[in-house]
This record gives sequence, C-alpha cells and structure tokens, in this order.
Amino acid sequence: MRFYSTNNPQTSVTAEQALFHSMPADKGLYMPTPLPQLGADFFENIADQSLAEIGFAVSKALFGDEISKADLEELTHRAFPFDTPVVEVEPGKIGVLELFHGPSLAFKDVGARYMAGLMSYYSKRSDKEVNILVATSGDTGGAVAMGFHNVPGVRVSILYPSGRVSDLQEKQLTTLGGNVQAFEVDGTFDDCQAIVKQAFVDDELNAHLSLSSANSINIFRLIPQGFYYVRAYGQVRKYGKPVVFSTPSGNFGNLSAGAMIQQMGLPVEHFVAATNLNHVVPTYLETGNYLPKPSIATISNAMDVGSPSNFVRLKHLYGDDYDRFKANVSGYFYDDEQTRAGMKRIHELYDYVACPHTAIGIVGLQAYLRASEKDVVGVTLATAHPSKFKPLVEDVLEMPVDVPERLAILANRTKQSIPIPAQYEAFKESLLQTVA
Ligand SMILES: *Cc1c(COP(=O)(O)O)cnc(C)c1O
Repeated sequence: MRFYSTNNPQTSVTAEQALFHSMPADKGLYMPTPLPQLGADFFENIADQSLAEIGFAVSKALFGDEISKADLEELTHRAFPFDTPVVEVEPGKIGVLELFHGPSLAFKDVGARYMAGLMSYYSKRSDKEVNILVATSGDTGGAVAMGFHNVPGVRVSILYPSGRVSDLQEKQLTTLGGNVQAFEVDGTFDDCQAIVKQAFVDDELNAHLSLSSANSINIFRLIPQGFYYVRAYGQVRKYGKPVVFSTPSGNFGNLSAGAMIQQMGLPVEHFVAATNLNHVVPTYLETGNYLPKPSIATISNAMDVGSPSNFVRLKHLYGDDYDRFKANVSGYFYDDEQTRAGMKRIHELYDYVACPHTAIGIVGLQAYLRASEKDVVGVTLATAHPSKFKPLVEDVLEMPVDVPERLAILANRTKQSIPIPAQYEAFKESLLQTVA
C-alpha cells in the first residue's frame, strides 16, 4: 500500500511515512492507493466476527506483506478488546452503532488505539522519540491521551479550547501525566487546529523535534474507522435490505472512513451527514458552494468545526464530482433546540439515551428515511457515551445518567494543564520548554 497526496497524485510514500508525517509537504492529505477490494464473499460470514477479527482481516488486505500477519493480529487484538454493537431501537429499521465501549467512551478510541499500535510497531525499529501534537474539540484528546499513555518512544501534546470541553473530557486530557501534556488554549478549537497545522510547517521546530499528528488528518486514524462500518454491516445484514449510515459529523473523518470502506467494497446504500449549526457540508450538498466559516459553539461541541479538515478527502473520494457526492450523501443539520427536542423524543420513543451528537445522527436518519421512503436499514453511529455530557443530558431528560466506572474515577483526579494564549509563538515556546 502506498499513499499519495490529494494535492499531487504523483506523490508516493510508504505507510510508515504517511503515519509519522501525517501531512504531505504540499499541504494536501494522504490517501491510500490502491484501495484493496474486499469482494462479496468477504462479507458473507462476518455476522459473528468481532471488531478485532474484522480489523485484522481488513488490515491484511491493506498491508499485504508489509507487516507480518502475526504482528497485525497482535496489533488489532490489542487495539480492540471491546465491541461496537448495534442496538436496534426499531428492529430491522433503525439501529444505533455504539462506538463508545472503549476506554475514553468515544469512537475516537478506535482510530487512536490502532494508530498508537502502529506507531509503537514502527518506533520499536528505530530509537527516535516521536512528538504527537493533537488539537481536540473534546473527544480526540481523551482517546489519544489514553491510547498513547505510556507507549514507549512517544510524547503527546494536546491542545484544547479552554472552557469549551466538558469537565470529564477535560479530566481525560489533563490527569494522566507521564508522556501526556495538555495545553489549555484561550480560544476555539479552530485556533487549536491552526496552531497544530502551523507547527507542522515550522522548519525550525521540525529540526528540533520529530513531530507527528494524531488528528483525523492522519490517514491511520481513519483507516481503522472503516472496521466498525463493516462490523455494523455484519450485524444488520440478516435483514437483506440496503444499509444507510448516518454519521454525526464535525471534521468529517468518520464520514470519510465510511466512504473509503464503501469504495473497498462494503455495500452502503447511502450516507447521511448530520451536523449541528456548523453546517458547511450540508450547505455544500444543497447548493454546491463550499464556504468554510469560523466555528459556532453548540451543545454538541465535538462537532463544532467550521472548516472540516477532511472535506478535501471526501471530495477526492467522489472524484471531485459534486453530483456523485450528492447522490451518495444527504446532509441534515440541527440547532441546539432541535437537538434537545431530538434527545427527548429518542428517549420517549425508544427508551434510549443518546448524547447530543448521537441524537443529531438519529434525527438526521429519521428525516432521511421519511424523505426517501426506501425500505432500508438505517444505522446511526453513536459517537460518544451520554455520560460524557452528563449535566446536559440530565438537564434535557430530567433523569440521572450513570457514569461508567472507568470515567467516574477521573473526577477526583487533579487537572494539570499549561494555559496559553491562542498564538502559535506562545505554544512553540512552551512546547520547547516542556520537551527540553
Ligand atoms: C469527533 C466527534 C464527532 C465528529 O467526528 P468527525 O470524524 O470529526 O466528523 C462527533 N461526535 C463526537 C462525540 C465526537 O467526539
């Protein structure tokens, strides 16, 4: 498997290069080539396969002989000791693919843990220390912090927007210590992302440090996310109906992963791209005009992205063809009031407690099913456990929400962060001091 840049199809780098460099020098994004075809028989007997087994099978197809089968098997089983079950809230019609059974209770565990495994595999073969920089709007940081905590040869610096992540999210970022350092930025997620992007093109900084990213710009965060679409398909295939996936979206990594695994052969009828008021992609689908904007703060804060970094990948996957894109993806978006109403209705209708992001996905799926009138199975990706947004969910549903033990224990730990203004130079100085 080789990787080319969306800005230059002639680029050709190895998996290791794409993993550690994250972004090509031409500022495009890496894409794998060729995409192996999984073939119809691959999907025949997957109903009983675990996420780890599916991950192993797809990884073998991707890596071929580049990594031994034994190493790939160990990597995938270590990365995915949990499942991604589909809870059928309307059997045969609407399912919720729960992606929050990993350590940080968000889907980002899947990408972060696979990537950590792969980095650890390659860095065992050299002795350089890798510095991971990651901007988070909430959940990425926790997944990356936990996925990389105590991984030898890797240091992690996390930038998050002060006051814009939930208390428990903040605890996940700021209480691990060791090789994980949190930078609390006085600004928005977009500011954090801009700082990280600038660090990667700063020659002086790169001369000192071996920098790497764990954001969804890194193709190895996205590749494993395809595995759970396959796992979901395995669970609903028995209905013999076309499958539609609804993806609550922010940076559009999740949807890009879906489109990629679809191109590897997963039978997907259609995608629903569901967002909050940061709706540049739904608006693009409606009008053909793509107009990135500053992000707007909402109650589904992990999707507060005004300029989604993976839009380029999506466009690319659809061959830069607006009509093809639009034929495969429908956009829906909801404001906070609609999100709250959706959370309530989902609880009344299905007795299901959804986090605000997941609720947007379910409401978008319902809207699509009403509009299309097709006989399909719809699966919404449940991107986070509702307890990650406990005060909000309790306020909306007027009932207590239990926090799983692995998250609850963080509440008593002490936050440790380095506060910085939303300026690149301030971050650089601080980073150089902490890693010195
Ligand atoms: C990251 C995140 C999203 C958005 O996912 P993208 O891949 O960036 O589109 C949605 N919901 C939750 C809970 C998240 O953490």
